[in-house]
Amino acid sequence: MSDFTMTIGGRAVTAPRTFGVINPATGEVAEQAPDCGPEQLDEAMTAARDALPEWRADEAARRKALQAAADLLFARSEEIGRVLTLEQGKPLKDATTEVLGAGVWLKYFADLELPREVIQDDDKALVEVVRRPMGVVAAITPWNYPLLLAIWKLAPALLAGNTMVLKPSPFTPLSSLKLGEALRGVLPDGVLNVVTGGDGLGAWMTGHEIPRKISFTGSVATGKRVAAAAAPDLKRVTLELGGNDPAILLDDADPAVVADKLFRAAFTNNGQVCSAIKRVYVPESLYGDVVDALADRAAAAKVGDGMTEGVQYGPINNRPQFERVGELVADALAGGARAAAGGKPIDGPGYFFEPTVLADVADGTRIVDEEQFGPALPVIKYRDLDEALARANGTHFGLSGSVWGADADRAAEVAGRLECGTAWVNTHLALAPHQPFGGFKWSGVGVENGTWGLYGFTEIQVLHRAKS
Ligand code: NAD
Repeated sequence: MSDFTMTIGGRAVTAPRTFGVINPATGEVAEQAPDCGPEQLDEAMTAARDALPEWRADEAARRKALQAAADLLFARSEEIGRVLTLEQGKPLKDATTEVLGAGVWLKYFADLELPREVIQDDDKALVEVVRRPMGVVAAITPWNYPLLLAIWKLAPALLAGNTMVLKPSPFTPLSSLKLGEALRGVLPDGVLNVVTGGDGLGAWMTGHEIPRKISFTGSVATGKRVAAAAAPDLKRVTLELGGNDPAILLDDADPAVVADKLFRAAFTNNGQVCSAIKRVYVPESLYGDVVDALADRAAAAKVGDGMTEGVQYGPINNRPQFERVGELVADALAGGARAAAGGKPIDGPGYFFEPTVLADVADGTRIVDEEQFGPALPVIKYRDLDEALARANGTHFGLSGSVWGADADRAAEVAGRLECGTAWVNTHLALAPHQPFGGFKWSGVGVENGTWGLYGFTEIQVLHRAKS
């Protein structure tokens, strides 16, 4: 029997069936996770609904619980980090950092004020705009940062007085199951329920009558299905979807200065980051130097089992994604691109792929136009800045982007012309709990984080008191 149990109504719950969870470093099944059936999902939804009245009534208790949850993650970061490395593949140091980051987010929201605005106070009326919880939140997460992204939803949703049913990706269910288990002693029964299963379980959740809000992070294709499923019941949705972030170097950028940051922002978590740099636009004059600097770093990167000390990049998380990255790289090479570093899977068990830098790649190549979500970065030459901006913006994606140059004011002016939710200058992937994060166009609907993210888990209520 699996050691990992779901959390429903504060209890440890097994399922009649389980499914295998693969360690991507070996390609072998490492653990079993419960496969939640429809009756158990009903129980979880009902438990969340029943927990609402008490939970929404006591703001001080909610803040205290979020603080305690943060302390618990800080205390158990390595233990939960090991589970995360096992199922996700990322190096243990990064996995532990992810758990600690989740704690930081919890602490931020535990202290965040719930805004209450007075919009009229005269002899006629006192009118306030207040925020009310929505009810039960169905939270659905992907496999790249399963724990952190669950907390991005949980912390603001619970602070606002909602309760939650959380479903992680079937590729990475274990860390969320651990989270549910760890928080049983901290949160009242039913406030957080964690269920695991396949994609069908996500579809049951979005079609279920109880949740009033769906908070979804994942691919554009699934995001559209979620939006469609939410529509008949007018459930509220926040959709955090894919990205194809451009980085544009200006002609005064110094390759030696920017290369480390560019490389990190493209290859962190093996490129499996929604807002990783996924294409780099470089002026002709700097092109050779930038390609060489990135290729040097790719060639020097240490790839291996995330449990091994000193490893910087683990395997790709799952076989379909591993095959997709291989396909996109092979397609680019067949189309005339050059592998300045890497270019192929690494022989042996597990889903390892060489950190790959592709030069002489043209727009119109699949790896430029699609989201690769893996350790392969196309570097594209440009002549004219307006043309580079048009190519950067010429996509359905609009999550984030960055502009790099010695003159930060000029770079900021160019960054302002990017059509995306976050426009960075001389940095990329700088995320923080107080900074709203979301996408333009197909990259999403709504934002997470900060007061704006908190609003996404509330309904506006006007409280109008007549005075005369
Ligand atoms: P995915 O869309 O395949 O799956 C995401 C989640 O949705 C999983 O839990 C899955 O089981 C569930 N699901 C699948 N079908 C469903 C359905 N019909 N109804 C409801 N739920 C369903 O995405 P993935 O491959 O796990 O994640 C990678 C994608 O996530 C990438 O595109 C990446 O850019 C994106 N992402 C976005 C953000 C962001 O904040 N914008 C963050 C991380 C990842």
